[in-house]
Amino acid sequence: MLSVAGAPSSMTEYNMPCIFCKIINGEISSYKVYEDEETLAFLDINPVNPGHTLVVSKKHYANIEETDEETLCRVINIVKKVGLSLKKNLSVRGYNVQMNNDPVAGQIIPHLHFHVVPRTENDSLKLWPQKEYKAGQAEAVLKKIKII
Ligand code: 5GP
Ligand code: ZN
Repeated sequence: MLSVAGAPSSMTEYNMPCIFCKIINGEISSYKVYEDEETLAFLDINPVNPGHTLVVSKKHYANIEETDEETLCRVINIVKKVGLSLKKNLSVRGYNVQMNNDPVAGQIIPHLHFHVVPRTENDSLKLWPQKEYKAGQAEAVLKKIKII
């Protein structure tokens, strides 16, 4: 299928208004953790741990590459604010920041958002499994992705 930068990539996206845009404009209610002119942070409806917060840009961008630098910096700064609040007010000693960029990476809602998930020592969550490089594989992939 042909795609245009910034445009919905399928008819499904055309037919389904963005849920996070609806939360931002108040059509769907949410538990707001933080709000300013350009960003909103609200509780995830299905938390990994209580306090799991989503930080979104108010303007609709589908993913990181679509998002302009200034907005991305603002959103990340709010991630930091939320993380500090989780540490201070939930007495957690750390949190995961996750951004599922594009459907293949697990992104379900096509509106830029970062997950901030408070962590405790005994929450039994596992991080993703890691692999080892085969001989020559690191050099080969590096040759392809190195930014010069
Ligand atoms: P993704 O997989 O796109 O990175 O994550 C989307 C997240 O949005 C999921 O963790 C899901 O629980 C959350 N979510 C989906 N719909 C709603 C909703 O209507 N309200 C809230 N607060 N969270 C939602
Ligand atoms: Zn949206």
